[in-house]
Amino acid sequence: MRLSIHPEKGLTVRAPFWVPEISIRKFVEEKSDWIQKQLSRLNHSKPKEKEYVDGEKHLYFGQEYDLNILYLKTPRRTEVKIHDDKIQVSLFEGHADNKRTNEIKEAILRFYLETGIAVITEKVNHYSSLLEVEYNRIDIKKVSSIWGSCSPTNRLSFNRKLIMAPHEVVDYVIIHEVCHLVQRNHSSHFWGLVAKFDPKYKEHRRWLHRNNQKLLV
Ligand SMILES: [Zn+2]
Repeated sequence: MRLSIHPEKGLTVRAPFWVPEISIRKFVEEKSDWIQKQLSRLNHSKPKEKEYVDGEKHLYFGQEYDLNILYLKTPRRTEVKIHDDKIQVSLFEGHADNKRTNEIKEAILRFYLETGIAVITEKVNHYSSLLEVEYNRIDIKKVSSIWGSCSPTNRLSFNRKLIMAPHEVVDYVIIHEVCHLVQRNHSSHFWGLVAKFDPKYKEHRRWLHRNNQKLLV
């Protein structure tokens, strides 16, 4: 019999069909210490939903910032800026309590997308000029599993979660997609080209794999 624990699927027990249920129950009971340990480990690694409260940690290009909320007396568009080690949100104090969280969340997302596209565009321009290739346009998308893509018409798309990843990891994804403008496959020639611009690409790829769940926008 075999036990496995998955963050979404939960606990799975695999047993041959002829094993009686009572034996399976006994097996699970015997393993309860191990199960508890695995579950608490998962709870620690599973990111909590953001609450958008003062002092909460938010990632921006690999750096952690404390959320700092400033309340304004006069009605104004909610503004976000990075100041020292804080991500500062200034909003009108007159927002109803139940709408405040959403207002902060939307404003942060807007800030991430507006500044993020600028940073990513600069990086794409840098690497595409080194490779002497041209792209059509850049999009930032909300996708869960793809970090970047390069269309046959040379449109580059990037996952908006990248705005939270460290610069060297963002660079890897950009190098990867820009190299697809030259090589539209994952051949050894392609990876050789990627390695030329990012010798540590394997490490960066692993980082994305490991931290995917942590990057929540
Ligand atoms: Zn690829």
